[in-house]
Amino acid sequence: MADKDIRPLIAGNWKMNGLKQVSRGLARDVAERARTSRLACDVAICPPATLLSVVAEAIEGSPVALGGQDCHPEPAGAHTGDTSAEMLADIGCRYVIVGHSERRADHGETDAMVRKKAAAAHRAKLIAIVCIGETLAERDAGNTIAVVTRQLAGSVPENACAANTVIAYEPVWAIGTGRTATAAQIAEVHAKIRADGPAGVRILYGGSANAKNARDILAVPHVNGALVGGASLKADEFWTIVESCR
Ligand code: PEP
Repeated sequence: MADKDIRPLIAGNWKMNGLKQVSRGLARDVAERARTSRLACDVAICPPATLLSVVAEAIEGSPVALGGQDCHPEPAGAHTGDTSAEMLADIGCRYVIVGHSERRADHGETDAMVRKKAAAAHRAKLIAIVCIGETLAERDAGNTIAVVTRQLAGSVPENACAANTVIAYEPVWAIGTGRTATAAQIAEVHAKIRADGPAGVRILYGGSANAKNARDILAVPHVNGALVGGASLKADEFWTIVESCR
């Protein structure tokens, strides 16, 4: 499938942010805009686990989908503090982010673990948003393509396809830093993912995407949407990114 035929996805990753009242308002605001617009992309919100039910209720009946930020490989069991893919599906999720660089860094998640989590997502009929991306040291050493190639091969399960998987290219040095990768840097990596990844898979860019730079990022070849952190916490800013898909 040609990139022009792939429906983009804009997914908001709220990370560990939000208390009930404000988050309910933010989700309702986004849902209302989605209900009353002709969307040119799919839209998802991935709140922290404590807010999944609040956001599920707020977006009910709207085109906005719900996503988790992580899942355990097992469906259930003695894993204190974890959430399974089946639990996410049960509460209404369509997506789950796996292998975000913050989880790779904070929790030592390896490609093999990420792959198991993506497989768990598929088992629960969720779409796995598999994150990959190089650190600044890796880029400076000229290893960007080698790193993303390794992460792609190691983190994406065999049965991954466009229907059950999204790949998010998120250069670690661009996440939450206000420093966005250049169009050429994004194009190079996305072309590699397009060549090596599952056929027709959506490839998102993530890393300081905002209302001002979204249109330029979304115009880069093989960019099929964005994974948005900080800018997804403000309805106006997030919505401008959604509208940039036109
Ligand atoms: C992210 O956490 O996936 C992300 C892209 O964050 P930010 O947009 O804040 O850089």
